[in-house]
Amino acid sequence: MEKMKSVVKKELCVSCGCCIKVCPKDAIEVKDGIYAHINQDLCIGCGKCVTECPASIIEGEYSKIDNKVRFKKWYDYLWIFSIAYFALGFFNIIFAWLGMICFILPLLFAIFKGNKAFCNRYCDRGQLLGLIGGRLGLSRKRSPPKWMYSKYFRYGFLIFFFAMFFVMLWNTYLVFAGTKSLSQAVTVLWTFNVPWSWAYHGNIIAPWVSQYAFGFYSVMLTSTILGLLTMLLFKPRSWCVYCPMGTMTQAICKVKSMKKNKFQ
Ligand code: SF4
Ligand code: SF4
Repeated sequence: MEKMKSVVKKELCVSCGCCIKVCPKDAIEVKDGIYAHINQDLCIGCGKCVTECPASIIEGEYSKIDNKVRFKKWYDYLWIFSIAYFALGFFNIIFAWLGMICFILPLLFAIFKGNKAFCNRYCDRGQLLGLIGGRLGLSRKRSPPKWMYSKYFRYGFLIFFFAMFFVMLWNTYLVFAGTKSLSQAVTVLWTFNVPWSWAYHGNIIAPWVSQYAFGFYSVMLTSTILGLLTMLLFKPRSWCVYCPMGTMTQAICKVKSMKKNKFQ
């Protein structure tokens, strides 16, 4: 096995952790939730991380490819949660509230632990995209354009995404206040209202609870559709380079790391 160093362009790293998932030697860690670091003593030069990185920012050339695969851990099967989530929400919209787990957990890891453990290990959607695009071969496996992992696009998309999220919260409030009636529809790509009334069974549940569920399911469905589109066009987990949760938690980790370094 001929080996050479893999080098991560730290300033461009989105700390998604996709490289960690394929490394057969556990040679990669995401430092402080900000950038990936490769332990050169453990690296065997297989090149899997170079191929996998959705932003294509790991450099390295290898004369031979190692066929070793990383030993699977229990959390590598969390993609099942994504499928179960959309299936349950199809039949009963109240299950859409379960998506809050994917919203709150990344924030808790970033705020209290200063890391991106959720993105790096437990993200069910990232795993599902990796599975469909990678194992099932539905991705073109091309590098995404540079603008897609630029700070301008990532933070711009974060702002847009949260603006849309607050519109959803506002609609929930209007239903709560009784000035708007419950809309039994799912809004796809913030534009198309798709009737979803069969999934509403909630006469005993307050209408605003169901409104929030319809809104949150719309958010989850929209982001998954975007993830699938970029999976088809680029690398399997290209969504990870501009996922608003990933961008936001990396920003939190950066602030925490700056504070830590200031007081040391
Ligand atoms: S080249 Fe292979 S062993 Fe080295 S860090 Fe990348 S995936 Fe791990
Ligand atoms: S962008 Fe993701 S896959 Fe690429 S080096 Fe950074 S953490 Fe690893």
